[in-house]
Amino acid sequence: MKKIFFGLFLASILFSCNMKERADLIFINGDIYTVDSAFTKCNALAVKDGIIIATGGDDEILNTYQSKNIIDLEGKPLYPGFNDAHCHIAGLGMSLTRVDLRGATSFDEILSRLKKRQEENPSKCLLGDGWDQNLWEDKNFPSNEKLNELFPDVPVILSRIDFHAVIVNDEAIKRLGITPGDPSIIPGEALMKNGKFQGVFLENLADRFKEIVPKPDGKEMREILLAAQDECFKYGLTSLSDAGEELDMINVMDSMQGEGKLKIRLDVWLTPGERNFAKFTKPYKNGRLSISAIKLYADGALGSRGALMIEPYSDMPNTRGISVNTFQKLEEYCKWAFDHGFQVAIHCIGDGANREALRIYAKFLPEGNNLRWRIEHSQIVKPADMAMFAKYSIIPSIQPTHATSDMLWADERLGERIKYAYPYKELLNQLGWLPAGTDFPIEQVNPVYTFFAAVYRKNLDFIPEGGFQMENALSKEEALKAMTIWAAKASFEEGAKGSIEKGKFADFVVLDKDIMTASEKEVPFIKVIRTFVGGEEVYKAE
Ligand SMILES: [Zn+2]
Repeated sequence: MKKIFFGLFLASILFSCNMKERADLIFINGDIYTVDSAFTKCNALAVKDGIIIATGGDDEILNTYQSKNIIDLEGKPLYPGFNDAHCHIAGLGMSLTRVDLRGATSFDEILSRLKKRQEENPSKCLLGDGWDQNLWEDKNFPSNEKLNELFPDVPVILSRIDFHAVIVNDEAIKRLGITPGDPSIIPGEALMKNGKFQGVFLENLADRFKEIVPKPDGKEMREILLAAQDECFKYGLTSLSDAGEELDMINVMDSMQGEGKLKIRLDVWLTPGERNFAKFTKPYKNGRLSISAIKLYADGALGSRGALMIEPYSDMPNTRGISVNTFQKLEEYCKWAFDHGFQVAIHCIGDGANREALRIYAKFLPEGNNLRWRIEHSQIVKPADMAMFAKYSIIPSIQPTHATSDMLWADERLGERIKYAYPYKELLNQLGWLPAGTDFPIEQVNPVYTFFAAVYRKNLDFIPEGGFQMENALSKEEALKAMTIWAAKASFEEGAKGSIEKGKFADFVVLDKDIMTASEKEVPFIKVIRTFVGGEEVYKAE
């Protein structure tokens, strides 16, 4: 009799076990922020075939699902994978191979970093980026004499931190083939000294120096993308909106994601041009790659006075900045996008650029539309223009670390206009949501810094005390949403990712401390422990 009872007991256990649904992966004992519409939390979740199949309490999940792979989170916080809403993945990959000039406090320091690199690892074309003359004692743009002395034969091209200005040596100028007085040069884009080029070039002309850089071949593009992907996973990024790529790079991305090598989810925007427009006549989606937007530029950057202002610069009254494209050209591209069903994303820093882009958009977008055209940076917006975002459902796409990088000198450029610069909370209020990113490699990749800058409006030295123009700070919940669900929404993907809900991709990041409850002093030091894309672990801290 006892045996029979025992047999029945065993059978019932086996039966109940068999009744449990199989999952590929289960997380338990976590502090999980689902970032769903009610901002609810849970402790456990189950994943199958790369998709979240259930969320709930530990018992609830363990009683319903079985898996060979159960991860005990030991109380650690888990969030939807972070999504950078505006960045440059190939640019990041390339910058990982360039001389890093960020943080240099003098031009001499730049020269010594270049010398060191060239001695250790000689290159046929020396590239560096990240210099910022605002960090130097002499804040004027330098001239290139010392560069010419050190590097008489190798072209040297050094991009400013915002990529809107370069310092180059004479060898680079020679190879590009431009001379002073060249009619193709737009006034203001080449700085002159005693009738010669000083070596500093801005905007379009700065960009033209790319022509003399040997192009990466297919193999190098793959290396560049893999290096950038690793860097992103290290910081918990599982999705990116990539702000403008050429066809060759897009083709490499597409084949790599098809092979399962490029695992990060990419929303890639087209750089306008015949080849891109000929290939993509409608939005494209294949696996983890989607292409549904075009990227345009209305103006340059504030640091190099390329941002297009309505009134002249406060510290250089003879200039209002630079229109990178004529308004007519922008409108032509917008028409192409509208006719072919693409989103448009226009880079606008100055109040003049923002005004013009808003007006162009208004010609195409009916009120109450759901086309999700976006303005990248939306950095200086005249209060009178602000309501256009809401009226035409235009998405302001922001980079909170730009505010804290620029705040130490932006008022020199803007004077009183600083009051309506970096107005993130006001921009958020237009549609009730907005996406946030970094614009890396211009800023650091780490999304925790985006969160910190958005919430506390301080730089990593905790300056200024009390925060910069705190009326435009975001709440913690808003900042987290801007890096997850709202970033997904800005690329029409909120149905598939951006929150931890049944049916969505199993993209997660686990942090060592809860970003939502950590103190201000703790937040910038919070680290990623593990990153998952589609249920696959792609990063684990050592
Ligand atoms: Zn950008």
